[in-house]
Amino acid sequence: MLFKGIVFCLESNLPSEAKFLLEDFRLAVNNAVRAGLQARVTSRNALSRLAYRDFREEHPKMYAQHLVSAFEVAAGVLRNHRKRVRKGVACGTPYVKRLMMKAENQAYKLDRAAGVIDLPIRAGCHVKLRLVVSQYHRRHLDDMSLSLGSLTVLPDQVIVAFRKDAPRPYTIASALSLDTNERSLDGVFVKGDDGMVVKADFSEVAIIQQRHHDRRRKLQKKKSNDRRTARFLSRREGRREHHRVEYRLHQVANAVLSFAEKQRSALVLEDLRGIRPRRSRELNRRLSMWPRRKLHRIIEYKALWRGIPVFKVDPRYSSRTCPICGRVQDSRMGAEFACECGWHLDRHINASINLLQTAVSKGMAGGLRFSPGAFQHDVMMTLYEPAMAARSEPNGTSDTGAVT
Ligand SMILES: [Zn+2]
Repeated sequence: MLFKGIVFCLESNLPSEAKFLLEDFRLAVNNAVRAGLQARVTSRNALSRLAYRDFREEHPKMYAQHLVSAFEVAAGVLRNHRKRVRKGVACGTPYVKRLMMKAENQAYKLDRAAGVIDLPIRAGCHVKLRLVVSQYHRRHLDDMSLSLGSLTVLPDQVIVAFRKDAPRPYTIASALSLDTNERSLDGVFVKGDDGMVVKADFSEVAIIQQRHHDRRRKLQKKKSNDRRTARFLSRREGRREHHRVEYRLHQVANAVLSFAEKQRSALVLEDLRGIRPRRSRELNRRLSMWPRRKLHRIIEYKALWRGIPVFKVDPRYSSRTCPICGRVQDSRMGAEFACECGWHLDRHINASINLLQTAVSKGMAGGLRFSPGAFQHDVMMTLYEPAMAARSEPNGTSDTGAVT
């Protein structure tokens, strides 16, 4: 089963009954977390056995399903806490700070045609939440192959989980093999005897990261006498950076996947697990590896949702091997890969050919055949470039003047 959380804004403010429910719910979650910590249990059922009766007394009017769902959320918090304790980073009692509540799909009703949620508060009291429905939202609401999962209510928006069974991947008619680099995906597209070099450029991501990194450093220096403000501002910077980067990565993933879908391509990517860049500084490493892994996660998930077959390939030697004669070069070279046999090609493109060859040799790409010789021409197709992000920033830089 696949899930996709869709965020909806509300047409008007949350009714006060619902606000009280959020507060109650948060309280119930935090109480359950405390009870769970004391009794050393983390599963929803154990929490429920442990605390249900007390809770019924403390929250006599709360809809029983919401209470069960509070145990579920608490169990999640406890699991995360336990994970952090094992890693040695947790401190203190975990609690939910954000005002929120979660309702399982039996505990609310969504009128998909009208875009109205009916949320029970307690016996005899329901509230209606009118959703702001854009085209994107409408597409999901009207798609009856999607069923409804849980509902998360926040003070100013709600998140509806849509779910469906993973569709069967289509029959492969071509292959798109991409080598993932710091600033771009570079590779080849193969269909029949035709081969083409392709590129998806996300160099903007590194620029955004650098800019925000500098800004945060400046902030911390400027507000060094006020750590609370510094932390607040720097977290805000972090959130903005996250949104901007994520937005670009989604765009890149969509561009790549739309192309693959149209051409019925098998998508071949390298398996990034275990790859460590050379630079030793922790921050550099995080800055440079994170977007690539994130991009892969987004691509893989979206591909699963759309039924696009993706194959992950061990990238070892892919940038040092000659796809024609199989020689492995001793060391990494410059921008171009050159072999004694006469083969030479852009290093990244060469790597993607090796990835594709590995995938084909393992039978991943069906009966696909291709000859590496076909790519030595200079035609390049752009799948994505920064100019395609023609949308203006949701949170423009205009209001950061006061900060920097
Ligand atoms: Zn060679």
